[in-house]
Amino acid sequence: MKKFKTESKRLLDLMINSIYTNREIFLRELISNASDALDKIYLASLTNRSIKVTRGELAVTLAFDAEARTITVSDNGIGMTKDELDKNLGTIAYSGSLDYDTAEDEAIDLIGQFGVGFYSGFMVASKVRVVSRSCEGKEAWAWQSNGIDGYELRESERAEQGTDVILTLKADTDEENYSLFLSEFELERLVKKYSNYVRYPVRMEKTKQRALPAPEDAGDDHELEYESYQEMETLNSMTPIWKRRKADVSEEEYAEFYKSDFHDYAAPAATFTIKAEGVLNYDALLFIPSHVPFDLYNKEFEKGLALYSSNVMIMEKCPDLLPDHYNFVRGVVDSADLALNISRETLQKNNQLRAMAKRIEKKITSELTTMMADNRETYEGVFECFGRGIKYGIYTSYGSLKETLAPLLLYYSAKQEKMVSLREYADAAPAEQEAIYYAAGEDESLLAKMPMVKSVLARGFDVLLCSQEVDDFCMNVMRDFDEKPFKNVAGADLGLETEEEKKETEEKSKEFSGLFEAMQEILDGKVSKVALSTRLDDMPAGITAEGFVSLEMERILAAMPEGGGISSQRVLELNVDHPIFAKLVDAADNDPERLALLTNVLYNQALLVEGLPVADPIDFAQSLSQLLV
Ligand code: ADP
Repeated sequence: MKKFKTESKRLLDLMINSIYTNREIFLRELISNASDALDKIYLASLTNRSIKVTRGELAVTLAFDAEARTITVSDNGIGMTKDELDKNLGTIAYSGSLDYDTAEDEAIDLIGQFGVGFYSGFMVASKVRVVSRSCEGKEAWAWQSNGIDGYELRESERAEQGTDVILTLKADTDEENYSLFLSEFELERLVKKYSNYVRYPVRMEKTKQRALPAPEDAGDDHELEYESYQEMETLNSMTPIWKRRKADVSEEEYAEFYKSDFHDYAAPAATFTIKAEGVLNYDALLFIPSHVPFDLYNKEFEKGLALYSSNVMIMEKCPDLLPDHYNFVRGVVDSADLALNISRETLQKNNQLRAMAKRIEKKITSELTTMMADNRETYEGVFECFGRGIKYGIYTSYGSLKETLAPLLLYYSAKQEKMVSLREYADAAPAEQEAIYYAAGEDESLLAKMPMVKSVLARGFDVLLCSQEVDDFCMNVMRDFDEKPFKNVAGADLGLETEEEKKETEEKSKEFSGLFEAMQEILDGKVSKVALSTRLDDMPAGITAEGFVSLEMERILAAMPEGGGISSQRVLELNVDHPIFAKLVDAADNDPERLALLTNVLYNQALLVEGLPVADPIDFAQSLSQLLV
């Protein structure tokens, strides 16, 4: 007996005992695994001559035995070797973050994200047995488990390649009537409800009645006699859902198809279709997920849409159909005009494919735009999940995608305290406002407290609070929106002072130029300038950056493996109205050592406020202590 890993066990416990109230979905999960296995063998047969399959023979077969309390889901798909049974069914793919302390609702989320498809069998079964024969060999293996401690693997037999999943149902309880599933009627109902669009026949032997022929000498009053017989029947419609008109398909049907085909536990946030007729004929059915797939930010994540030619899958994920910034979109594209045995390489050079990809991208953009206008709450959810990728799209295209993508962006507005689009920001700005102000940092609530943000707000201008790493870079390549340049409030010289203020600052700057020079010398190259500022609110000093590299960029670059060494040109800004300023002036005149201490402390504390690392914490602490004694 092999033991399940602790995490898998915990996951199983949750599944079996509490989480899914909707136990009947187990059948959908097993059928979709079977259908995947059929896809796999078909795809393999296209490139591997030794695998011979006839498409018409590929099918999922259901059977049940009321006495033995078993339900069997069989397929003649790719099958699993001993190792594959061990690997695929022995551990539940999981993130490593699920332990006994994980709250139940978080666990549900995780379970959903990782798709414990196969394990859902244990919601209704006390024992699951899987007999499988891989298309690679002749031997078959049986995997068996009670879902509690572990599983066993034994040699077995199977006439052809494929897999049988045999569930022995749990005993009925007061709350749960598992026996319900042991009926033709119920199994057929579940197939129609959840697996109607599976592209392979899902078959079951059904008991039917037929009248026996009347004996020749039967009189007029002869009563017909009936006999039962068994006949294999296909339960699902198999018509691809994407071939139906959108108006004829309910939202639930789309959602069920999406969940079963793309292994998601949650319904999509949006569903839309393309029906192209003309030079190139194809149907597309596209979905925007309602949550972030667990692997979206993994290197191994593969974007792409499933590609079909006349209802036959030719590629599970065709990456060329989706631009990177829409990599989260899932769906199906079906075109009769594509050759069946087309290879990845030819596809890449395929003009038809390129034309489709273009149209698909446009469609996604227009759907998102409509959603933003008509269904704001859903859009905000979608943007929270996938907005980062859209921003990267702008950044990595050096701004060439700005026209298309900038209107889709949302940022948190410090003034309105909600998400706003750039259009909304620009429309709400007073006439005299010349720029779009933003602050970038790790945390929106900290940004809201930054003196520079407060001082821009105090002038009646809104500030966008940006907490994603890509934000500052993205703003930089966008440069402007609605003819207003983006300005980071932590940049030096925002040009917001009135003429009067400017004059006053200039005069004072002259007056204290000696102090500034002395301080710059003390800081020994760490800053390119020490200057006066009118936007420090109640802080004595602040750090801003001159030139192209912002403080936020410096912070992010420094955190990258190879990004260090690029620094901003820092400016130490001083608040002339703060009581410390008078102390600086005094120290400059009377006590150069104290000036050095004050300068050092002010500089480092300004770094802290900006979220930048203090280069020499010990030196900082010592300077501070000396001032405190
Ligand atoms: P998922 O289907 O989301 O990957 P499952 O837990 O349902 O997760 O299944 C785990 C793996 O087991 C599948 O990815 C597949 O490789 C394998 N598997 C499950 N059922 C079958 C089947 N009927 N035929 C072949 N392989 C299967």
